Amino acid sequence: MSDFVKIILYVVVLLGMVIVGSIISVRLFAPKVEEIIIPNEIIIDPAMTLEEIASQNNLPGPVMRKVFKISGKPELQRKFSEFNLSIEQANLRIKKQLAVAAEDDSKVWEKILLKFLLWFIFMILIFHLLKTNAIHADNRSWFYFASVIIFGVILGADPGPMGTIKDTIVLFGKVKIVFIPRLIALAIFLLMVIAANKFICAWGCQVGTLQDLIFRLNREKNQSIIQQFKIPFVITNTIRIIFFAVFTFVAIFWAFDIIDYIDPFKIFKPAALLPVGMVFIGLIMFFSLFIYRPWCHIFCPFGLLGWLLEKISYCKIQVNYRKCIGCEDCVESCPSTVMEAILKRDKVIPDCFSCGTCIEVCPTEAISFDKGNRKKPPEGKFHKKEKQDEA
Ligand code: SF4
Ligand code: SF4
Repeated sequence: MSDFVKIILYVVVLLGMVIVGSIISVRLFAPKVEEIIIPNEIIIDPAMTLEEIASQNNLPGPVMRKVFKISGKPELQRKFSEFNLSIEQANLRIKKQLAVAAEDDSKVWEKILLKFLLWFIFMILIFHLLKTNAIHADNRSWFYFASVIIFGVILGADPGPMGTIKDTIVLFGKVKIVFIPRLIALAIFLLMVIAANKFICAWGCQVGTLQDLIFRLNREKNQSIIQQFKIPFVITNTIRIIFFAVFTFVAIFWAFDIIDYIDPFKIFKPAALLPVGMVFIGLIMFFSLFIYRPWCHIFCPFGLLGWLLEKISYCKIQVNYRKCIGCEDCVESCPSTVMEAILKRDKVIPDCFSCGTCIEVCPTEAISFDKGNRKKPPEGKFHKKEKQDEA
């Protein structure tokens, strides 16, 4: 059997496991279904009582209490005209409160809390292993696999780092509200980036680790089996910025979520997948064999935000240039162009997913995952590849 057929078979089996496992897990955990529907128009007449408005529009009691700032049932007998509100204002307030209630109702809070707790434990474990140079080609994929199974298949598509920013923008575009719990989750993810580079993307994001796992299926001892490619960062990042701008514009001004159709996180919620999404996700997973994390580099809004924040991360990949012998093995084995950019003193450093491959291959232990600002390499020290190209 050729390498190509073998690797494709592995991918098919892996994705099959993820999809079947996710279908079973969604059924087992029986997440709440969003039951609150936000109508286009709310029927209100100034002569109606609040109770009549509620029953006419199928509005839950808590929503009515928040919109009209009332405390108990008896107040539902008051007429709309008694409140100092125009019909438009009431309409808007009701829609906002319905959106918040729908968000709240769609969450299984115990599962979300458990997920964050496990994320913290897993991140601390990986951080320790990375610091002690204990992550290597033989065990790296198993950690990615564990992350996919725990944070994706078992604990589901939601929450994920990308969803926190995507859904915040979309909800704001649709009803001009911000769902506070989601904002808190986003803040936690961003704090993780500030603390330890894109650690949450690297090891915790269910879609990120799935792509990484597929990429590693096409590697042996940190070298590709079937040729892998490094797309110049300027290309992937330009597309990512444009995609983010278009997504945000359409979400804010047309209240439309373009990512929803192709959202790769839905692989962990297969029933929500549309045909276009299946094809798109299939392509992303296929290209993950040859390109490092295509979704993260080309499309992901959190990927873009995380990349910006990486610049101020407390811990990140560092090179000790006194120990470095300039062999550039790290550049060769880095799955993207990060290490090359670091050593060539590039102004723009691509996303580093803290995979630790460079730490592992360095023959003099010159690379570490450490705190502090990255030092610039001595000028002219790293030109091996250029010299090879010239020769
Ligand atoms: S950049 Fe990749 S790893 Fe990070 S949130 Fe997006 S999909 Fe997940
Ligand atoms: S520089 Fe490259 S090899 Fe090193 S941790 Fe970052 S992505 Fe991985």
